Amino acid sequence: MTTLYKNIFWATLTLLVIAVTFSMLFNTSPAPANLSISEVAAKIAAGQVTSVTVNGNDLSIDLKDGTTAVSKKETELGLSQTLANYGVTPEMLAAVNVDVQDQSGFAYWMELLLPTVLPLIVIGIMFWFIFRQAKGGANQAFNFGKSNLKMFGLFKEHVTFKDVAGLKEAKQELEEVVDFLKNPKKFLDMGARIPRGVLLMGSPGTGKTLLARAVAGESGVPFFHISASEFVEMFVGVGAARTRDAFATAKKAAPSILFIDEIDAIGRERGAGLGGGHDEREQTLNQILVEMDGFDRDTNVIVLAATNRPDILDKALLRPGRFDRQVVLDLPDSKDREAILRIHAKSKPLAKEVDLQKVAVRTPGFSGADLANIMNESAILAARNNRKTITQDDLYDAIEKVMLGPERKGRVITEKEREITAYHEAGHALVAASLKDADPVHKVSIVSRGRAGGYTLKLPVQEMHLRSRTQFLTDIAVALGGYIAEKTMFGEMTTGASSDLQHATKIAHALVTQYGMSEKLGPQTFGESHELIFLGKEISSEKDYSETVAAKIDEEVKSFIDRAYAAANKIITTRKKVLEAIAKSLMEKETLEQDEFNAVVGKFNLKPLGI
Ligand code: ADP
Ligand code: MG
Ligand code: ZN
Repeated sequence: MTTLYKNIFWATLTLLVIAVTFSMLFNTSPAPANLSISEVAAKIAAGQVTSVTVNGNDLSIDLKDGTTAVSKKETELGLSQTLANYGVTPEMLAAVNVDVQDQSGFAYWMELLLPTVLPLIVIGIMFWFIFRQAKGGANQAFNFGKSNLKMFGLFKEHVTFKDVAGLKEAKQELEEVVDFLKNPKKFLDMGARIPRGVLLMGSPGTGKTLLARAVAGESGVPFFHISASEFVEMFVGVGAARTRDAFATAKKAAPSILFIDEIDAIGRERGAGLGGGHDEREQTLNQILVEMDGFDRDTNVIVLAATNRPDILDKALLRPGRFDRQVVLDLPDSKDREAILRIHAKSKPLAKEVDLQKVAVRTPGFSGADLANIMNESAILAARNNRKTITQDDLYDAIEKVMLGPERKGRVITEKEREITAYHEAGHALVAASLKDADPVHKVSIVSRGRAGGYTLKLPVQEMHLRSRTQFLTDIAVALGGYIAEKTMFGEMTTGASSDLQHATKIAHALVTQYGMSEKLGPQTFGESHELIFLGKEISSEKDYSETVAAKIDEEVKSFIDRAYAAANKIITTRKKVLEAIAKSLMEKETLEQDEFNAVVGKFNLKPLGI
């Protein structure tokens, strides 16, 4: 609405400017006297007039005394006729210089038309502005069915496979797809079918979108990109229309690639939503299926899609002829993490001593996006401290910032709280240092970060994909270490241990119900997780076992926790001196790095224990 007011303002201003301009153009000299025609006649008769200029019905009169005057004659009559009626004889008139001006000039017409036409023009312009606005709105409404496709790869910033670290299998698979597009004949001649759809699956931040963009950069064919959530709008039926439009555009540009990002937004299993079985998403999904089936054998369009929830995708999407190729993007291992760090370190000045491998070792479970974030945070830290280069410590700080949130040195804690936190963390660290199968302690700190009061960072020596029961039990024991230390030292427990207990219980539960690691219950899983689609979260777990089994599960969970508790408790009570040494050292230095921690513990020559 404000634009309407603006337009009115402009129109008024224009009008004013025109009016002022005209009045300046036409009124340069002081206004001449306005005489009636009888006065003019009298003046002519008295011989006071030098000349009369006739312009239409207007008369301008120059008088002998040097002044001028204007007048009007009667419309139908000529000048001499009019004057004759007032008693001016032809002889008298002969003494006056009469000049009749051409009446058909531009100025004449302008003068005649402007007063009527000008307002019309101004009003017209105003309406034009208003209508243009309204029409824009209307067009938007009618454009809902358009897919809003973005094309990139051809002229936008160029991403290639070189910019993607690791993900070897995924890259190989996609290189093949690119090859299909470039030399379809090679494959068709062999009777091979060109893959229709490739589904990239991987947790958030593993580089799905990045990889797709790299395909765009490598293939050299038009690459269309749309996020599935854009298909679904306020109006019913829009999603299907947009899908149709997107596929039509891609087909027209063939050979081409159509990339549907975050396809889980529409590709969820049909009939599972709470919003009724007939909702917008389903229609959109159906349309995608129809479009993909509608490709001819040699239509040269490949549909790429990405999701981080392959588990909830509709099975129909994964059938041959649709997304029949599935590429899994794993979280990077330590070598790949180093490579990713290296890519993102390219434009950043690193200090000489920086060892990215050490950073990679400290970041198991981090995704590519997390690592990119670490490099960025470290640069910010360096800049904030006015350093010219990024140091190793900046990188370490950045890891913790990304993992746990920013340090909160300013948080006010009492001396007592500090002591409790120190013993708590020392408890974790001591149990970890004592047990044979525990991961080595990399860092212990009582500086609070994010929501954690303190933290003990332990990392596996080598990344492993399988974990044994002993390792799980060890994890539980280490998690309980903080709680037990508080209890033994202060005879009291605090809320600081609650997330540790949650963690321990979760592991114990998984041991029994998911991994079949309980002897009593045997190799069987219990409980099937379900999720409610509309919340997109796992919120219910269906019980597929009887009450007696439920009781047994609880019993087994408890026995695992008890076993770990006993082991941790023994360590803390028999090695109380070590616990105190660690806690004292923590209170003094706040943070112990691996070597410092080992120096403290090393003095006691601890024997590694089993669990
Ligand atoms: P998603 O899988 O969620 O689509 P993105 O592709 O958007 O993840 O990745 C986010 C960012 O993380 C990328 O822009 C890139 O900077 C970084 N990244 C992720 N994986 C890699 C990788 N393998 N190599 C280099 N950078 C990566
Ligand atoms: Mg993405
Ligand atoms: Zn803890």
